[in-house]
Amino acid sequence: STPVRLDKYLADMGIGTRSEVKSYIRKGRVEVNGIVVKEPDIKLDTVKSEVYFDKEQITYESTEYYMLNKPAGVVSATVDNHCETVVELIKSSKNKDLFPVGRLDKDTEGLLLITNDGDLAHRLLSPKKHVPKVYYAQIKGLVTKEDVVKFKAGIKLEEDFITLPAQLEILEAGEVSVIKVTIYEGKFHQVKRMFEAVSKEVLYLKRLSMGELELDESLAPGEYRKLTENELNKLK
Ligand code: URA
Repeated sequence: STPVRLDKYLADMGIGTRSEVKSYIRKGRVEVNGIVVKEPDIKLDTVKSEVYFDKEQITYESTEYYMLNKPAGVVSATVDNHCETVVELIKSSKNKDLFPVGRLDKDTEGLLLITNDGDLAHRLLSPKKHVPKVYYAQIKGLVTKEDVVKFKAGIKLEEDFITLPAQLEILEAGEVSVIKVTIYEGKFHQVKRMFEAVSKEVLYLKRLSMGELELDESLAPGEYRKLTENELNKLK
């Protein structure tokens, strides 16, 4: 693992801000491998080092993984001048480097993975991987078998871009239709634009899964939890 500065190690683990932590270190409240260390800038191996703060061991968790049921009204970003962000919803995190893996529109709900693991994010978002994403949606108007066929053929979204075949499943057909759709890319507003292409409007959109990771339906919008080992292994 990459070495981390002692002050960053403690700040990442929620002991205090970087400057608070520096002062704790200078006061001799921190031990590394049995020795009091007063230099905030020494570098540690995060796996092998034994770090104590006020005699209590602080183990370093370098990666964190959260499943969020994104609520409407929150933006898929780390910071924003005007709006609350998905990262700000993760209150229990000690780590400052979290980001959402991909984006959901502000009005979209559902599964969002939030992590600081750039390698995993890269793999899940890689355009070459075609990780399937399943959405539940309410659509204004009658969704038909013709639409299912068109989605299966791929929908032309841009002059030079046709989506991969998408599975459209009609759950309820009516004035407002209820559907599930599986897509394999992550174009901007993709589901909304696919319905627009068949002259229909998405009224409500919620992501149910991304690759092997499924939304835990016991999470209300705005709630989150850590991924289980099993979920993490399926993603990796
Ligand atoms: N497709 C959309 O149109 N919006 C989302 O948020 C996700 C997929």
